[in-house]
Amino acid sequence: MADASILWFRRDLRLGDNPALAGALAGATHLVPLYIHSPTEDHPWSPGAASRWWLHHSLAALDRRLTGLGSRLILAQGEDSLQVLQKVIAATGARRVHWNRLHEPTSVARDRHIEQALRSSGSECFGTNGNLLFEPGEILTAQKGPYRVFSAYWRRAIAQLPPTPIIPIPSQLPPLPPELTGLDLSTLRLQPRIRWDTGLADAWTPGEEGAWRAARDFLDRRLVQYVEGRDRPDHRGTSRLSPHLHFGEISPRQLLGALLERGIDLDREPAASFLRELGWREFAHHLLAFFPQTPETPLDRRFAAFPWCHDDGTRLHAWQQGRTGIPLVDAGLRELWTTGWMHNRVRMVAASFLTKNLRLPWQLGARWFWDTLVDADLANNTLGWQWVAGCGADAAPFFRIFNPIRQGERFDPSGDYVRRWCPELARLPDTYIHRPWMAPRELLSQADLELGRDYPRPIVDLTTSRAAALAAWSAIKDAGAG
Ligand SMILES: Cc1cc2nc3c(=O)[nH]c(=O)nc-3n(C[C@H](O)[C@H](O)[C@H](O)COP(=O)(O)OP(=O)(O)OC[C@H]3O[C@@H](n4cnc5c(N)ncnc54)[C@H](O)[C@@H]3O)c2cc1C
Repeated sequence: MADASILWFRRDLRLGDNPALAGALAGATHLVPLYIHSPTEDHPWSPGAASRWWLHHSLAALDRRLTGLGSRLILAQGEDSLQVLQKVIAATGARRVHWNRLHEPTSVARDRHIEQALRSSGSECFGTNGNLLFEPGEILTAQKGPYRVFSAYWRRAIAQLPPTPIIPIPSQLPPLPPELTGLDLSTLRLQPRIRWDTGLADAWTPGEEGAWRAARDFLDRRLVQYVEGRDRPDHRGTSRLSPHLHFGEISPRQLLGALLERGIDLDREPAASFLRELGWREFAHHLLAFFPQTPETPLDRRFAAFPWCHDDGTRLHAWQQGRTGIPLVDAGLRELWTTGWMHNRVRMVAASFLTKNLRLPWQLGARWFWDTLVDADLANNTLGWQWVAGCGADAAPFFRIFNPIRQGERFDPSGDYVRRWCPELARLPDTYIHRPWMAPRELLSQADLELGRDYPRPIVDLTTSRAAALAAWSAIKDAGAG
């Protein structure tokens, strides 16, 4: 019987630097590159609409790459990945299953169960690290506990940065076992039924090639200005690699390798700053593994009693639609809706506005991001929201409430970002672009803008809502932290 291996692709949708692929190739006469679509296993964090869109295109891209090397992606779907794997094993006689590990709590539990079941029926399973520089548990305090402060975590991690042996893309792949068929991609129904996705298609090229195009563009043209540029939503100053990293179309090891290949010193700016952002991604996965309740529950237990505002849905809806009357917040939410991505600085401002000025629970914002971000990532999204809300590990203190006017004036000084996403404000002069409600009436009319008709008045007053948030914080701050 042929010696077949199964390569179970999950969020490692690439051929380069893929340790599971390298393992599966060793000694295999046949290879089954398999993707199982089983969103219910991720419940309550099944992929949102924007993530499904990305996945569709990324799977198509992966299939093209595999086909170019003499193979093909076998697609399957079901509520139980174990059953699918067992069927494929029965159909192909494969004795080994290889995958790169995931770190979300539900994935960890599922994989453990699958491994036990397959081992007991005589298959071998191999899990490898394909998506992180350091897996949870590798970077621990002197007491062997989890770090809760990023700077200390990263100091230790960076001192142990792994060498970067990048695994090359194989030049050819073993054939599929005979007569093995899979589903057509369209049967997974990842594409939206109502076509709202043209903005996504204009903004992104999912897949390994798209990831490398974005990486090269960033490393060769933008990295040099990253330290100043990364906070400017009006410029393309960041890598925009987050969805590619989330889906494993490129690995952080490859990025490290690409920096070194260009002779860039990792200890100095701008590489140190870029690496530190990758470090936040590592830290987020570390936290999620040690505090698996945090996607729903604040790490700081005082926040369980936080007096959130009651909302009949109107304020949340205005925030989601980018109609709060606060230009920087609205521009961010509209960018998100159109492109599936929002600049990090604006994510912080929009999240602060939701949790502090509107005083709505951070979980509502996290859910919206989950559905609309192409880079929606349980670890990063949880960390981001808890950080801004002030209730996570190493979070910004609650009393740090972003002032969206000042943030706009500082990071979008000529209002280009706001004008791009809120064109109804385009003719306002720079002085009022971040606070149109303060503009004199004649200026508004010269700008052809009637507040309340063309663009909303602010749905909350920034000063009084800030004071109310601080009062709410005082009510819980003296209880024991978690
Ligand atoms: C409220 C909130 C929610 C967020 N939700 C997500 C999310 O669901 N998915 C996601 O990938 N990021 C999330 N982030 C983090 C950050 O905004 C994005 O990673 C970043 O904007 C992606 O753009 P980039 O690839 O151009 O980043 P770059 O600045 O080029 O950074 C390079 C990479 O580092 C990682 N990274 C950068 N910043 C962070 C960070 N603060 N935390 C964790 N990893 C980081 C990303 O993988 C990113 O691609 C969130 C931040 C906030 C404040």
